[in-house]
Amino acid sequence: MCNSLAPAPYRASSGATEASDSRKEYPPAPEPLPVPVMDNHTHLDFRHGLIEVGVADAMDAAEAVGVQGAIQVGCDLESSRFTVQAVQADARLLGAVAIHPNDAPIYAGRGELESALAEIEELAAHPRIRAIGETGLDFFRTHGEGLAHQRYSFRRHIDIAKRLGLTLQIHDRDAHDDVVQVLKEEGAPERVVFHCFSGDEELARICNENGWYMSFAGTMTFKNAGNLRAALSIAEPSRILVETDSPFLTPHPYRGRPNASYMVPYTVRSMAEVTEDDLSELCARLAENTVNAYGSWG
Ligand SMILES: [Zn+2]
Repeated sequence: MCNSLAPAPYRASSGATEASDSRKEYPPAPEPLPVPVMDNHTHLDFRHGLIEVGVADAMDAAEAVGVQGAIQVGCDLESSRFTVQAVQADARLLGAVAIHPNDAPIYAGRGELESALAEIEELAAHPRIRAIGETGLDFFRTHGEGLAHQRYSFRRHIDIAKRLGLTLQIHDRDAHDDVVQVLKEEGAPERVVFHCFSGDEELARICNENGWYMSFAGTMTFKNAGNLRAALSIAEPSRILVETDSPFLTPHPYRGRPNASYMVPYTVRSMAEVTEDDLSELCARLAENTVNAYGSWG
């Protein structure tokens, strides 16, 4: 299958073995959005297949379709260090740093969680690091003894976010009730974002009541994601955000293919169908909400 409609940096070079496998090809670029928005969560250091895309090329491709900025998110020390370098290199990026909930038990098992958290706090002092994340709870991948380390790590990240005055970006997988409980027990930071919002109307109501942001990813476009669309339809308009979580969670109809920030418009258009908003108005709102959540890119 020809992938010539994908932005140039995302095209497989001719002769590469991957070019013959259409499932691994980057999807075509969408029609540009009428008003620019930002991708609230991406991992520019996670490669997909053989194609390597530099930070500037990735953001050029995004900007060409109206995605003018992104939050680059670290998940361990290596990717959090990368995040600080990336936000220094490209003004279209702000960053988030953390030890991911599924990595916290690994660091703890090596006796390195405390030193890792100390370095995360140091990295978070950079003025273009605006969030502590992704942190939270993941009951899908972590089980047994690891959960105690995960909960401890989540509490420590909440504490760092509050002391540094940063936004908290939450990874919540199959753990809605426990995430909310820990936030209540610790006292939530001023700004909380549920990255890749995966809840239903009940969690959306809790977010509305607490003023927490719900960041919708490509998952909300999936055919079986009626619960996410129901949540979006009742979400307080000032609390909704959009993200890719790229290179994962590619929106419909390209589910299973690699994802990148230039794919955001597919999700935004799907969101506009749910909220019945004018597309330009929804884009403007998403951009305004993003700046309210993380501060200005300028
Ligand atoms: Zn992520």
